[in-house]
Amino acid sequence: MQLVFASNNLHKIEEIQNLVGSEIQILSLKDIGCFEDIPETAETIEGNAILKADYVTEKYGYNCFADDSGLEVDYLNGAPGVYSARFAGEQKNDQDNIDKVLKELKDVQNRKANFKTVIALNLNDEQKLFTGIIDGNITTTQKGNQGFGYDPIFQPTKYEITFAEMDQKEKSAISHRGQAVSQLLSFLSGK
Ligand code: IMP
Repeated sequence: MQLVFASNNLHKIEEIQNLVGSEIQILSLKDIGCFEDIPETAETIEGNAILKADYVTEKYGYNCFADDSGLEVDYLNGAPGVYSARFAGEQKNDQDNIDKVLKELKDVQNRKANFKTVIALNLNDEQKLFTGIIDGNITTTQKGNQGFGYDPIFQPTKYEITFAEMDQKEKSAISHRGQAVSQLLSFLSGK
């Protein structure tokens, strides 16, 4: 079976290909000749995952899955959410985004937040959503230099370290993305 992963991130494609095994051939957007920017204009993380998967299935006719993730901060009513990558501006700079969250939470007691990933899968005319969520707190200063995005200021519940102080394996075992991918894999393995 062929399945498009609506991404051009070769690292992500290779990682998923290794996890699904040889019965499923994972194709990138480039592999199917899709070079345009897929609109990500929804107001929610779910909405954007669905937009991307539907775009590929409707325009190119492939079974496809797409993912979308973001950080949701309680005190900011769920922001930056779908705007996580560009919270501090279109330059999409991780450090600027971190600085903005820390500034908005300056002297704020409620530092609860979560990361969320939604994977939308279009398979043989059916759509399934897989959601991974990890709860935690926004630290008052940034710590660690691994990972990316908001990792240096996100400390998962029951942990004394941030995502940026964990190695990739430790983070993936508990992360929003790791959870959503493992739900997708167990669904596909039953197919
Ligand atoms: P994407 O949908 O996976 O591209 O994620 C959108 C944005 O959310 C990223 O650019 C990051 O700012 C943030 N984000 C998503 N996942 C993570 C994570 O695991 N750690 C830190 N930031 C993340």
